[in-house]
Amino acid sequence: MSMQKIPADWRNCATCSHWCGRKMPDMLCKFVEFDNNERARCAGGGFNNGQMPGTGTCPKWERQYK
Ligand code: SF4
Repeated sequence: MSMQKIPADWRNCATCSHWCGRKMPDMLCKFVEFDNNERARCAGGGFNNGQMPGTGTCPKWERQYK
């Protein structure tokens, strides 16, 4: 396990509403923590059904935490 924390407005899979991985937003939803080693499904996004890392990205990113 290798935890990483990024701002919620960074356009990565970990902050995207399509990503099925484990996301841990802080109380104000300004940052999202995730496991750098996890691969999880992109559900309905740019890599639909692909196994994506939290650091992945694509043009169909949709912000989850606002
Ligand atoms: S591949 Fe694109 S749509 Fe899918 S989870 Fe990552 S950023 Fe979101």
